[in-house]
Amino acid sequence: MFGKRIPLFKLFGFSVNVDVSWFILAALIIWTLSDSFFPSYFEGFSKVAYLWMGITGALGLFASIIFHEFCHSLVARRYGLPMKGITLFIFGGVAEMADEPESPKAEFLMAIAGPISSVVLATGLLFLHVVGKRAVWSEPVKGVLWYLWFINYLLAGFNLLPAFPLDGGRVLRSILWAVRGDLRWATKIASQLGSGFGLFLIIMGILCVVMGYGFVGGVWLALIGMFIRNASAMSYKQLLARRTLDGDEIDRFMKTDVVTVSPSISIEELVSDYFYRLHLGTFPVCDGDLLLGCISPEQIKQVPREQWDDITIGDIVKPCSAENTISPDTDAVKALSIMNRTGNSRLMVVDAGRLVGVVTLKDMLKFLDLKMNLEVK
Ligand SMILES: [Zn+2]
Repeated sequence: MFGKRIPLFKLFGFSVNVDVSWFILAALIIWTLSDSFFPSYFEGFSKVAYLWMGITGALGLFASIIFHEFCHSLVARRYGLPMKGITLFIFGGVAEMADEPESPKAEFLMAIAGPISSVVLATGLLFLHVVGKRAVWSEPVKGVLWYLWFINYLLAGFNLLPAFPLDGGRVLRSILWAVRGDLRWATKIASQLGSGFGLFLIIMGILCVVMGYGFVGGVWLALIGMFIRNASAMSYKQLLARRTLDGDEIDRFMKTDVVTVSPSISIEELVSDYFYRLHLGTFPVCDGDLLLGCISPEQIKQVPREQWDDITIGDIVKPCSAENTISPDTDAVKALSIMNRTGNSRLMVVDAGRLVGVVTLKDMLKFLDLKMNLEVK
């Protein structure tokens, strides 16, 4: 879903990142706020004042979104869910989970934590705004406060719509899940509602553009609608995949004829005979079937080009990590979640220090496709 991610800071152990697409959103919001929103509600300020109101308003909005996602993350961690961190992107923010919640209760509390935090924040800001009015704070400050309490209520309200994967859709799913005890059915209903709501937004967006109610706003609505439709369909597919693979150990679909690299060859040979020929990111370095380590282009880049002939792979190989190795009895769902978390689509299967095979995302998906065709009605 994301392009290049830039880490901003860490908050109680959660990393907060921005996706490059977020800068488009930031610019659009600052522009809309300072060019039309604030000037139409608060007349008579200078252009510079409006610009500052726009910038502080946008910063306040992003802080509010981070706060909202942070509260989701706190509850998720309380229920032992591994979190990938908080990412701001073109449609707002997301607290990325590496796994699904274990029970309807965990899902419900995790989902509701976001909107509740936004309502609490909005009410606090509303209170501050009232205090500011009494204390005769400067008009632009009051203007920004007014915008921020209002937008936080709006954020809570929008997120509570029962359209999966929005928070309200997750709340709905948790209730359906609790009622029937069937997560698949609950996800199906919730994601169908999400998909329908996405379509509604797309139609509203197109109407906005056609009827002349605003081009940017209309396109924006339609894009959000497309995003929600896509996200709800993806979440359902992911769940089906997890369910289908549940209980399968990865040795069922690992390949045992792995291309390995001998520690005695030179970097030059590795690059020309392996990297350029086989187009794989990482190779296992083995002595017989004993796994010595892993070699990737990143390690080679650190050696100057003119030394490639003289240095052997054995000289620079690094031990493989938990990010690219698994044991043969690992559950397939766990393997998928490692791939998802680390971005590695190939994992070495290692048993007591010996390389026994390799499992790739492509093979897992093929197996999954076959199994779903045969078993899921
Ligand atoms: Zn939320």
